[in-house]
Amino acid sequence: MQDYFQNYIDGQWVDGGAGRIDVTNPGTGEHLTTHALADAADVDRAVLAAERVHRSGALSDLRPVERTRMVQAIGAYLFENKAEIAQELTLEQGKPLWESVIEVEGAARYFEYYGNQAETVEGRSIPLGAGYYDFTTYEPFGVSAQIIPWNYPVEMTARSLSAALATGNACVIKSPEMTPVTNRWFALAAEHVGLPAGAVNVLCGLGQDAGAALASHPSVNLIVFTGSVRTGQAIATAAAGNVVPCVLELGGKSAAIVHEDADLDAFENDIRWGIYFNAGQVCSAMSRVIVHESRQSELVDRAVAIAESLSVGPGIERTEFGANMGSMVSDGQRDRAAGMVSDAVAEGATVATGGRKMNQPGAFLEPTVLTGISPDMTIAKEEVFGPVLSVLSFKDDKEAIEIANSTEYGLVGGVFTKDIDRAMQAARQIRAGQVFVNEWYAGGVETPFGGYGKSGYGREKGREALWNYVQTKNIAIKLGG
Ligand code: NAD
Repeated sequence: MQDYFQNYIDGQWVDGGAGRIDVTNPGTGEHLTTHALADAADVDRAVLAAERVHRSGALSDLRPVERTRMVQAIGAYLFENKAEIAQELTLEQGKPLWESVIEVEGAARYFEYYGNQAETVEGRSIPLGAGYYDFTTYEPFGVSAQIIPWNYPVEMTARSLSAALATGNACVIKSPEMTPVTNRWFALAAEHVGLPAGAVNVLCGLGQDAGAALASHPSVNLIVFTGSVRTGQAIATAAAGNVVPCVLELGGKSAAIVHEDADLDAFENDIRWGIYFNAGQVCSAMSRVIVHESRQSELVDRAVAIAESLSVGPGIERTEFGANMGSMVSDGQRDRAAGMVSDAVAEGATVATGGRKMNQPGAFLEPTVLTGISPDMTIAKEEVFGPVLSVLSFKDDKEAIEIANSTEYGLVGGVFTKDIDRAMQAARQIRAGQVFVNEWYAGGVETPFGGYGKSGYGREKGREALWNYVQTKNIAIKLGG
């Protein structure tokens, strides 16, 4: 990998006003590269460039089909370069190479989907009687700021950028400081498809510096943020200061309710994907399983077997889909997760397997299963953001729902049963933006995603997300005669 990457502002590759930041390969603990670090002045130039593009009409005045083609061409470019992007992603983030390929393909898919949607943003006419003609149109907000987390840096940027461009907004992306390298592919793609300079700006900077400057910039018209609750609160406060909307996709402590009639053979797959994919650094991870007491010991045995079957090591060596897991993103995140496991044990939990840092260079934590957990323990309420599954048990349906709803979060939930009535009842009662029945992570780019409670507000994915990026204009005409 080259030893230095620049930011992309107003169509130029530039150094950062705040110097450079070191990027570490979490799979080895070694220095990987350096990246330009933006300051508030860089942010200001990027926002003003985006504002200029917006005011020029270069994006917003296009016939939507032209935006369809442009957005889809960005996706095609990512797809064509997926091998190279995936390699860089694994080196900066730690996930297995095959997971990185899935992430880049997922990113390309967002541009395919929202490219298609560009032509569907239609208004309606509203009858006001014979003397009037009234209709609505949808206009882009203007400058859309995207503030991105490190866990899925490519897919999270794609999710927001694709919809923002499809609806005609100019964008400023603040890439995550731990994993900034792959975000430059969005700048390369913008250049490749011929977007005007300033339409897409990509800069890496520290959250409290460049991130805060972007969130509070008076010319930003919309903020889309994915990250932690604490930062989400700061972003919402900044947005309120400028009276602009924001979308907050925050954390979760999502639970699967497993009934006594559930198919545990099939559920093994949900454990494998639900908590060990991306080493558990997934906002919608299945971090809690609430199982009927009659199946608890069987389920724990199966979860332990899955955790122990995973080969854990540097993602770059894990090229093929299989029973393997990479590193976490950093030693700091790994130590935080390991500390939460120790604290859980101090509160009375039992480690069924894992729980320790691995004795090798890199940010590795053993795939972990915890039992003996009650809903009032910290581990049952707070997000670990690592490969740590907490197993709780219930006696009846009412108790299962109460436990599922006993955190401040509400991102997703799941119910596993052969009884459709029971599943539908749970789906209604679980307080979360998405409920999976009999398959964790069922759904796709097409299905709206976002939180209840402290998991945030607004929706990304699906057609719902389009409405984040446009504002309604009503045109009321008094007819003559
Ligand atoms: P984070 O909140 O620390 O950082 C996210 C981004 O915000 C980074 O780009 C960071 O630089 C920036 N930032 C930090 N402080 C800022 C400030 N004061 N003003 C503006 N920007 C600031 O989160 P993280 O540690 O990178 O990501 C992990 C968290 O993200 C977890 O809680 C996880 O659940 C959540 N997450 C949610 C989703 C979702 O879709 N709901 C997806 C991925 C991650």
